Amino acid sequence: MVKEYDFKNIVAPLLKWYRSNKRTLPWRITPTPYRVWVSEIMLQQTRVEAVKDYFIRFMDALPTVEALAGCEEEKLLKLWEGLGYYSRARNLQKAAKDILVRFDGKFPTTAKDLQTLAGIGEYTAGAICSIAYGQRVAAVDGNVLRVTARLSENPTVITDREYRKNLTERLTDAYPDVGGDCADFTQSLFELGALVCKPMNPDCGVCPLAKLCRARENGTQKLYPVLPEKREKRREDVYVFLIETDEGFCIRRREQGVLKGMNEFPTHIIQEGESAESVLNEWGMYAFTEIKRKNYRHIFTHIIWNITCVWIKTDAAPFDCYALDEIEEGISLPTAIKQCVDILT
Ligand code: SF4
Repeated sequence: MVKEYDFKNIVAPLLKWYRSNKRTLPWRITPTPYRVWVSEIMLQQTRVEAVKDYFIRFMDALPTVEALAGCEEEKLLKLWEGLGYYSRARNLQKAAKDILVRFDGKFPTTAKDLQTLAGIGEYTAGAICSIAYGQRVAAVDGNVLRVTARLSENPTVITDREYRKNLTERLTDAYPDVGGDCADFTQSLFELGALVCKPMNPDCGVCPLAKLCRARENGTQKLYPVLPEKREKRREDVYVFLIETDEGFCIRRREQGVLKGMNEFPTHIIQEGESAESVLNEWGMYAFTEIKRKNYRHIFTHIIWNITCVWIKTDAAPFDCYALDEIEEGISLPTAIKQCVDILT
């Protein structure tokens, strides 16, 4: 039985620490619901440093919900190129269209309404409501789970749904009453997890919550949070074909599997006994010259691709072809596929 931890006690020291230590981040300047939303979606699975430039570029190009809703898909994906997990960008646009239609263009103001939009779950709704609207709604992400598990020495596996639900409720109860404090409290928890209570080496010596932390008191920081057992990633051997014709390089849309709906250089998951030649023959290509090959690896969340990039030249191909500078400027390609271009240098 875990001894109950009172999160109300952390509010004052954490707010004080945050106000003198917070980083200046682009989305913290004018935190409108739209800006908070886009930043939170970008920050899922992506480091803060990597997101900064993307966020600025995205806001310059699409500064409003209306602009996002009306953006051409190819332009949207180009703005997202390199961030990965492209379904996030598609969901952003789907939700923006929905805001125009269902909410008459007004950004929803409650966590309940926000969670009816594509790609917005309990966490993102909590972040928007507390940061942009100053509401007393907790937002529990990986940083918050880590900090709170250490503070309270909670032995529950942090992916446990009931645990997260309970933690969200208890943190919400601890929220301050003033709007600006709510916004800062949410961000102070994120910030402490990112800068001080880091996954591997928590910097307890400078932590504003050191005196309130059970893990620090007992030297058990490394035991928390309790993570689920790791599942082995699936491995796939993949051909990425750089097919060069007089018109340029072949591009097509992925119709299934990981990266479904994205542009690609024609790609094929290799089955036992298949050669590059046999795959090209399957696609109706018999006359081609192989120029070069290159091997590299790309790691997705659940899959590892062992990629063999094959550069061939041919007179005719069964896919649309584009000049290289046209691809660079106007066609978004996922990083796993785009890396293949290095073979040309
Ligand atoms: S004292 Fe250490 S373990 Fe506890 S919250 Fe602070 S940084 Fe994390």
